[in-house]
Amino acid sequence: MKINEIFYSIQGEGVNTGIPTVFVRLAGCNLRCEFCDTTYTFDSGYELSELDIVNEVKSHTSKWVCITGGEPFMQDLRALTDRLKTEGFNIQIETNGTIYRPAACDWLVLSPKNEKKPDNRMLNKANEIKIVVDSQDTLEKASTFEKWGEYHSVQPVNNREDMMELCINFVKANPNWRLSTQLHKFIGIK
Ligand code: SF4
Repeated sequence: MKINEIFYSIQGEGVNTGIPTVFVRLAGCNLRCEFCDTTYTFDSGYELSELDIVNEVKSHTSKWVCITGGEPFMQDLRALTDRLKTEGFNIQIETNGTIYRPAACDWLVLSPKNEKKPDNRMLNKANEIKIVVDSQDTLEKASTFEKWGEYHSVQPVNNREDMMELCINFVKANPNWRLSTQLHKFIGIK
């Protein structure tokens, strides 16, 4: 598989915020969002077998692993996720939802982007819908995703103060939504 990086940190976004998690960041993405904070994944990566990835994940103490990118579903994840499940890991996957591919997953976080509507089959599998808010317009579209997922959050792009205010007002008016921030950026960790 083409990997960008593997590191052990704290989950900084969404419902699972605060859980110590091993991040497996895959290389490549099919979209090019203006606000992307992981553009370094687009072309940069190295080859690693599923077995070597799992061995590196196992060298850390948490049983939570987050497969992210880039867009992880650019690659076939089944061999990796099957191995991780055999080893007893809880798997979270972060996706833009535009590519449908099966994979073992305990917590699918789907973050729709402006560029392309997610695939309905991915929306149906989502546990959590997370909208990155970079404008009032993005916020207005949030409600169109309410019928999918168990949890729904809005997240100000890059913790931007103006977007934070919009998101706080939004969740106060729509309490079935919650606020997500990028905790790792606030506390200065990876
Ligand atoms: S989908 Fe995610 S990784 Fe891909 S360009 Fe958009 S923000 Fe970046």
